[in-house]
Amino acid sequence: MRHDGSTVGLATVYRALQAMAASGEVDSIRTPDGQIAYRTCTPGHHHHLVCRSCGRTVEISLPGLEEQTRKIAGQYGFAEIDHEVEFFGTCADCSSK
Ligand SMILES: [Zn+2]
Ligand SMILES: [Zn+2]
Repeated sequence: MRHDGSTVGLATVYRALQAMAASGEVDSIRTPDGQIAYRTCTPGHHHHLVCRSCGRTVEISLPGLEEQTRKIAGQYGFAEIDHEVEFFGTCADCSSK
């Protein structure tokens, strides 16, 4: 991709990112103001802690949450549950400022 913006429009980049997100190559993250941000992550299901001040993102896994979600969804007869969970807060660096 070129970075001067003359050949690749923002919409094109956005579509490419959406496609990559759909195929799991990048993760989409919803920011507190409702925007969708993209980043490359380790493969596999995980969640994010996002600093609302500097945007730093930490990957976390929540085995308990997966378990609970499956159980509760099952009670309602739902299978193949998918979810995205993002936690927003202030990271250690930002809170010590
Ligand atoms: Zn921060
Ligand atoms: Zn999960």
